[in-house]
Amino acid sequence: MGYNIAIDGPAGAGKSTIAKKIAKKKGYIYVDTGAMYRAMALFLIREHIKPEETERINEKCKEADISIGYENGEQVVYLNGENVNGYIRTEEVGNMASASSPNPNVRAKLVELQQKLAADADVVMDGRDIGTCVLPDAQVKVYLTADSRVRAERRYKELLAKGENCDLEVIEKDIIERDHQDMTREISPLMQAEDAVLVDSSYLTIDEVVDKIIGLCGD
Ligand code: C5P
Repeated sequence: MGYNIAIDGPAGAGKSTIAKKIAKKKGYIYVDTGAMYRAMALFLIREHIKPEETERINEKCKEADISIGYENGEQVVYLNGENVNGYIRTEEVGNMASASSPNPNVRAKLVELQQKLAADADVVMDGRDIGTCVLPDAQVKVYLTADSRVRAERRYKELLAKGENCDLEVIEKDIIERDHQDMTREISPLMQAEDAVLVDSSYLTIDEVVDKIIGLCGD
């Protein structure tokens, strides 16, 4: 097993920004597991499946082959061989990812891929169930969170910067709803692992959070 850093937490807590920076500083590979659930969600949307059609999700997800690669140091997600990075960052895909991720077939498939990646390399992996389920033996586990309003404001700024039309109130409502779905689902709900360190990023800068987590690595 490589050196594994697991970062879990709710949407918009800053997981990917922080995990990317840590990976760069330590020379580790960054694995964004949310992107895999988003690629699966994109597949289901393209198949005209609705979030509530659980049976169809269960069947259809078997046809999606999801893999990841790295181009210029960036993680690229492939859906049946197609680079879908440009399509997975919308609210529609995020909401579908949250609705389809409780499905046991979806999870089994993606967890296997994640465990394989971490077995062979030093990784910083972020998601919802990394410390609790995917990498229970990770050397460092962090539960990264922040106020829902602060998280909504961050997502709002990100979307605005990309030129997407959005509404802060709607984003906060979506975030609260998605947290609720992720925390109350039966399989691998979002929760802090017993041995994870809680970090609240609401009033910390990105670099403060990065330093705090690197400090936990003890080297
Ligand atoms: O982190 P991101 O917003 O990209 O994740 C999208 C959705 O994918 C989450 O709301 C969650 O339902 C699901 N997910 C998950 N397990 C992970 C990562 C993401 O269930 N390890």
